[in-house]
Amino acid sequence: VALTEAWEELEARIAAATSELAHKNAKLEAASQARAHFLAAASHDLRQPLYALTLFSSALKVGETDPARLTRASHIQECVATLDGLFSELLDLSRLESGAMQPAFSEFALDPLLEDVNRTFRMIAEKRELRLVLRKTDAWVHTDRIMLARVINNLVSNALRYTERGGVLVGVRRAGDTHVRIEVWDTGPGIAPEHQTRVFEEFFQVEQARADAEYREHGLGLGLATVHRLMHLLGGEVVLRSRPGSGSVFSVTIPRAGAEASTRISEHPTE
Ligand code: ADP
Repeated sequence: VALTEAWEELEARIAAATSELAHKNAKLEAASQARAHFLAAASHDLRQPLYALTLFSSALKVGETDPARLTRASHIQECVATLDGLFSELLDLSRLESGAMQPAFSEFALDPLLEDVNRTFRMIAEKRELRLVLRKTDAWVHTDRIMLARVINNLVSNALRYTERGGVLVGVRRAGDTHVRIEVWDTGPGIAPEHQTRVFEEFFQVEQARADAEYREHGLGLGLATVHRLMHLLGGEVVLRSRPGSGSVFSVTIPRAGAEASTRISEHPTE
């Protein structure tokens, strides 16, 4: 009898704990939805006045001949563009979190995508006197092209922003029979072991990077959180290898296109 009673009590306790857990889970879920909703609404509403500012700042330039005023108007335009970029980062992340963004899978060659990345960042690299090397590849992949482009752009943008000397290299290699790995190498400051998982959290920024004006250009600490979410959606992953003082390597693994596509990795870098 004592054993039965003890058993029943144990069952009752398990049931109570389970229901408490379910209750807490529901609360967490509601909080996370409210947060995503707030982010989406806030970033959407904040972009409206920005749009007006964009129009007004261009209007300031019309017919203006005073160089000082023209410079000021351009400066306003740049600031507005930066803010707009930050808000769209917020908006995108909240859309990703709420499940509003779903991948559209297709098969495509990686090389043209890397050429787009090259075009986007070539001038920025030159301005910062950094080398930007994108190795040619004939790999084909099966994924969402826009989302993958977003991932690579975020990684290359970070690599260039946080690197002071040297440069950035993007290479592609096979990962087993079914996947390819795209690697973004930089000769930047590296990331300390205790920060290596945290950099993928929303709003996390390494103190040193925040403190250094050169690195700060813009950023909310959402880029890598977005990369992480996108890779999760794509069924792949992003991995960081880094040692402080020796740069960082961010690599993403994605499925390659069907067996008929060639995935031989070329050895000839293009610059
Ligand atoms: P943001 O760059 O906008 O601050 P991210 O989410 O892209 O946000 O990156 C989070 C933090 O990780 C950055 O603030 C920076 O401290 C660190 N980080 C990201 N990429 C690199 C890199 N390539 N080299 C060194 N530190 C980096």
